Amino acid sequence: MKSNKVPIRPIRSYLASLLLLISATACDESTGLVASNSTQTWEDLSQYFITPNICKDAEGPDCTKLRLGDSELTTLAPERGKLFACSGGNPNAPGSDQNKITWIDWTNGTWNLLAKPFLPAGSFSPGNGTSSVTESSSNRTISGNNLPVDGKIGDWPMTDYPSLTAIDRNPGIPTANNFSFTLQLDPSEAANASCVNLGPIGMTLNGVVLYDAVDARGNDAVAHEIVDLYGGHPAQSDYHYHFVPERLDEIAPLVDGHSGLIGYIRDGFGLYGYNGSGGQELTNDDLDECHGHSHDPIGYHYHATIEYPYTIGCYRGTPI
Ligand SMILES: [Zn+2]
Ligand SMILES: [Zn+2]
Repeated sequence: MKSNKVPIRPIRSYLASLLLLISATACDESTGLVASNSTQTWEDLSQYFITPNICKDAEGPDCTKLRLGDSELTTLAPERGKLFACSGGNPNAPGSDQNKITWIDWTNGTWNLLAKPFLPAGSFSPGNGTSSVTESSSNRTISGNNLPVDGKIGDWPMTDYPSLTAIDRNPGIPTANNFSFTLQLDPSEAANASCVNLGPIGMTLNGVVLYDAVDARGNDAVAHEIVDLYGGHPAQSDYHYHFVPERLDEIAPLVDGHSGLIGYIRDGFGLYGYNGSGGQELTNDDLDECHGHSHDPIGYHYHATIEYPYTIGCYRGTPI
């Protein structure tokens, strides 16, 4: 994938999605198929709440008061806790309706993950996910069809859930799309960290592409956008994660409790899960401005956190 096309993709996808939505809405009205539960009250959203395990203990960030990342995108320089982006978002891009978001505390600039709805599981079945990692003498190639290998995906399209679609009008339907990233096998830290394009930043071993922390508007995507209970959502047909679903962090921890490998970032460095050495959940304060650190036996690597920017803040190496 050519990097100069990356920022355009989600914006174009959402525009196409909006057109789809307009026709779908018109269809519903003409056939009387507007769901009878479209008058659901906001309290009904509680059926869509989830409580991740990482939110059940006192370690790490407080999931009820996560710092909203909307003002944490910078195009100036790397800075801890921020996303050093190559460009800002488009404030006019479609996205969730801020007036209907109940889980963000706009005054204090925080959001409550435990009071946010997630698209539930259901009958949606887009097919089997694929993932492969191959290595040559100098490169590592990670490929997949962008559907989760573990088969865990929500009940898309969200338009079947009127109370959710009233908040986030994303009519996308995930389908198999092949992605492949050829990376340096043995990456090195660059003299200067570099900025991140909006959109894909790497790929998980679960076969799903990873996007950075922001939506097409440049807002905190994890706070604003409705994803499924397995952590992903589609941009048109491209399913993706903006943060690391915690089940991917429960597969293969290292011997000292340090999280296992989640996937690879475009500069070739690995992304690991939520826990550092000793199994302690990490916060931004434990990491550098690119959201990584270096220690034996891994060397430099990134970590997931449940606070913005969730995955990486900049590229410590040289992205391909
Ligand atoms: Zn997204
Ligand atoms: Zn580490």
